[in-house]
Amino acid sequence: MTAAPDFVEAVVGYRAWALRHDRLYPVTYSSSPWAVGENRATCALRKSTGHRAPDLACSCGLYGLFEHTDPRLRGGRLVLGAIAAWGEMAVHRTGFRAEFAAVTALAEPSPRAETAAVRRTLREELGRTAATYGVPVVPLEGLREQALLHGAELPQAALPAPPAPPRRSPPPTPKGLGWLARPPLYRMPTDVHHWIERHVWAHRTGGLATIGVAAPMRTVLSYSPEVERELVGTRAERGEPVARITGREGRLVAVAAPVSGTIVEANPLMEVAPHVLVTQPYRRGWILRISPDDWQRDTSALVSGAAGVAHYRNFVSSRSRADAFAHVEAEPG
Ligand SMILES: [Zn+2]
Repeated sequence: MTAAPDFVEAVVGYRAWALRHDRLYPVTYSSSPWAVGENRATCALRKSTGHRAPDLACSCGLYGLFEHTDPRLRGGRLVLGAIAAWGEMAVHRTGFRAEFAAVTALAEPSPRAETAAVRRTLREELGRTAATYGVPVVPLEGLREQALLHGAELPQAALPAPPAPPRRSPPPTPKGLGWLARPPLYRMPTDVHHWIERHVWAHRTGGLATIGVAAPMRTVLSYSPEVERELVGTRAERGEPVARITGREGRLVAVAAPVSGTIVEANPLMEVAPHVLVTQPYRRGWILRISPDDWQRDTSALVSGAAGVAHYRNFVSSRSRADAFAHVEAEPG
């Protein structure tokens, strides 16, 4: 096992499901369908193994493959789709097993796969299913592009090296082919300023400060959060909340302004796709833009660069979740 890389964005993967009653079922162990929104992996063996899913030495986790052309995704009446995955991940050469994942798109049935009548029925069922999950149905050629709206592909350099060429010994077991990325070890961009205790960031964009939540915040946010923001044109005071977001277990998370100034722009994506807060917190998931009173003054108290990220990472990993996120709780009302 090598040092575990970590990811700024959710990881894009592809998988197949069996379609029943407008729901997506795993092809194996299909006792319950995939949930709308966030799915969390559990280990069927947990009682005996005690581990959290996924685990390298087990087969648990939510599966995704890196290529939608992977031959394992073809066959019968299976439905192909894209997922965004995050949390703890066991990564292998051709795919991963993740702790959390959500469906982001479904692919139209292949024209070659079935007879016209079967295809029509499948298409209708697919349409209802996509509506249930709130995702689009796209042609196979467009699946990757759609998938990339919700995450990033794992960089090739992060993938485990291919196994050595076969020798006369037994083939290597899949167990040896991966590594495990454990949250809250997120790779965070070094060109933003982080306010560690508040888990927010600021980035200078022209003369403006773009602000958002930091990657570790996905530990406490719900996947489909409701976002309530201060209005464009109003004042933001450093340290005061400029947004409230619903978190896990019904808690409310406060987003503190990292700089003081006037709010000049709100990310319209928050209205329609607030899960980008979880999947792409530094890119499409920015929250507000502020015209700062004094960028230098306010950011001098924040951390940035590689050292800042290391400091932040240490802050999160050396504390319990309750301690690390003690300062993001919003006051009710
Ligand atoms: Zn397991």
